[in-house]
Amino acid sequence: MATRDDVLEELGLAPAWRRRTGVALPDTFAAVVPETVTVAEVVTDARPRAGANAALPPISVEARIERIARLEWRDFAADVDACTACGLARTRNRSVPGVGDPRADWLFVGEAPGAEEDAKGEPFVGQAGRLLDSMLAALGIARGNCVYIANVLKCRPPGNRAPEPGEAQACRPYLDRQVALIEPKVIVALGKSAATVLLDVDATIASLRGRVHRYGGVPLVVTYHPAYLLRNLPDKAKAWEDLLLARRTLRETGAAAEAAARALAAPPA
Ligand code: URA
Repeated sequence: MATRDDVLEELGLAPAWRRRTGVALPDTFAAVVPETVTVAEVVTDARPRAGANAALPPISVEARIERIARLEWRDFAADVDACTACGLARTRNRSVPGVGDPRADWLFVGEAPGAEEDAKGEPFVGQAGRLLDSMLAALGIARGNCVYIANVLKCRPPGNRAPEPGEAQACRPYLDRQVALIEPKVIVALGKSAATVLLDVDATIASLRGRVHRYGGVPLVVTYHPAYLLRNLPDKAKAWEDLLLARRTLRETGAAAEAAARALAAPPA
């Protein structure tokens, strides 16, 4: 089995997530990176099925939202692949619905597919994706195992420009349905674009970090986008703090849910 160093080396990330002098990474940081990293078989809904990409019949905005809100996983990817609700349908190569554990505790949400994701139909497969995988490994998790990865937009904006408000609005029912199907314990918004679209605010990452927000009732923590971290290495320490906040939040959410289930199961006094 590959060692942690082998994996990070292979990903071109070593020593990207190592403690560096002057950076206030907590001692626990190195300790939680597993010595071996097994990438579990990834459950993906990113592969369009045979017959997919047939345009959906035109319906009203409200009827479309209601239809998407009733989608099951088995139809989800094909539905995204047939979507023509915004102009990105004309320029995409592959739609990128999302990838991972359909009942994940963690939901990571990025901005939109880039060129490599558009070619493969899977989110975060480029350099930023490799850094995201190492962030997951530092938490002791991996794609397909307790984690689902999605984007605000399911199709690539040309030239990797930021999502336009109309595109984000048209795509939102799909993310809402993913949240409803997965029922994650915590959502991590990766980068300003994802955070501001999900929280519907115009704010800086600095002002949104460090506290727990809500999306559809689910706790949401904001952190830097992995592509930003690749260019701004010192901010990895802050990103790690954000992930620890998300993990604490996840544990609290899980504990609260267990307490509620125990209370329900308890015989009346
Ligand atoms: N790849 C993705 O899938 N999403 C991003 O936000 C960036 C790269």
